[in-house]
Amino acid sequence: MSSCDNPGLIPFDEALRRLLDQTSLSAGIERIALDQAVGRVLAESPVAAVDVPPADNSSMDGYAVNTADLNADAETPLAVSARIAAGQPPGELVPGSCARIFTGAEIPAGANAVVMQEQTRVEEDGSVVFPAGVKLQENIRPQGQDIQQGQATLKQGTRLQPADLGVLASTGLAEVDVYRPLKVAILCTGDELVEPGQSLVAGQIYNSNRFVLAGLLTQLGMEVVDLGRVADTAEDTVRALRDAAANADAIISTGGVSVGEEDHVKAAVESLGQLDLWRIKIKPGKPLAYGQVQGVPFFGLPGNPASSLITFGLFARPCLLRQQGAEVEMPLMLQAPAGFTRTRAIVRQEYLRARYENGRVVPFANQSSGVLSSASWANGLAVVPPDTQVAEGDLIGFIPFSELLF
Ligand code: AMP
Ligand code: MG
Repeated sequence: MSSCDNPGLIPFDEALRRLLDQTSLSAGIERIALDQAVGRVLAESPVAAVDVPPADNSSMDGYAVNTADLNADAETPLAVSARIAAGQPPGELVPGSCARIFTGAEIPAGANAVVMQEQTRVEEDGSVVFPAGVKLQENIRPQGQDIQQGQATLKQGTRLQPADLGVLASTGLAEVDVYRPLKVAILCTGDELVEPGQSLVAGQIYNSNRFVLAGLLTQLGMEVVDLGRVADTAEDTVRALRDAAANADAIISTGGVSVGEEDHVKAAVESLGQLDLWRIKIKPGKPLAYGQVQGVPFFGLPGNPASSLITFGLFARPCLLRQQGAEVEMPLMLQAPAGFTRTRAIVRQEYLRARYENGRVVPFANQSSGVLSSASWANGLAVVPPDTQVAEGDLIGFIPFSELLF
């Protein structure tokens, strides 16, 4: 198809921006212990109560000195007047002496450098000989070099990663305000679907989308309201959607959103709210159904498992994260050499399940949207822009799954 056959196809960036514009925070706030907070979204911008580190300390095992006691261009012996290990109050340095000091120990008042023990020599009388050229502040980690008291450490909307928890802990914070986990209902439409563990009869397939979506939502720190399989009837679809709207902050369905006789999602959503079929200029993922069911945001993802995974990552994930209170950024797209050639150019932007490996991007051989093992094999998506051919070695976009699914 040429672009003339596709009037009104919305480019990806614009579609996402428009979806995000319609999305607002809907999660409440709770205060939780820091050790429970990994993956949660900050509902405040914490301010550091102390400097980090709280005082100057030594970055080496060695000797604390005052450089004024040392010769600039000759060795200097000094007596050892104190021993300071990490965790001990440092006291004051006796003028004209040095203090034995260890990594992490606080610098005593009056000292302004730490000389590494490897650069010193201990004499028989116990005094320590220092080299010429010791520099002011050497081997001292200054108070507040990491974080200063009163400074905002992290921004509201941060999804707390382990390093973030460490930063907050380093300022002495024991509890944080976070948003309550968003409740997301999932429903998988299709008379053919059977749960794993049961046996298949003719015409049936196992429900894989349920596991993909539940896993994705769990990884995002959200709560899954699993409505299971929904039969391909108008009544069942309406009943499931009502149930979902009553019990969740957002709803995701898979399948049943085309315009076939067995596709009931569109009419059911319209009877309870409102639905738009977005014709987005991407492959896979046209159309994407978005709307609301009794005021609850609704995403109708394709039934084909690889397509529903990708459209979740590209559209549902950023909207859900925003609803959850998280700061949403466009997924990081790397540029990497293509390890493949494509002579066919299509009008839609294409997302190929691909692996970045050995410095190049290689797509899975079978890109059929029903082939979910492609996504299991892949570690990201290769992005082929509209109307673009790819020659081996061309730089192309690659979005790691870490940016798209987590
Ligand atoms: P649909 O959009 O309902 O026409 O579904 C498109 C294709 O995806 C069909 O081949 C379905 O059998 C398949 N499909 C739909 N839902 C699921 C599911 N939950 N798990 C696995 N395959 C599915
Ligand atoms: Mg179906």
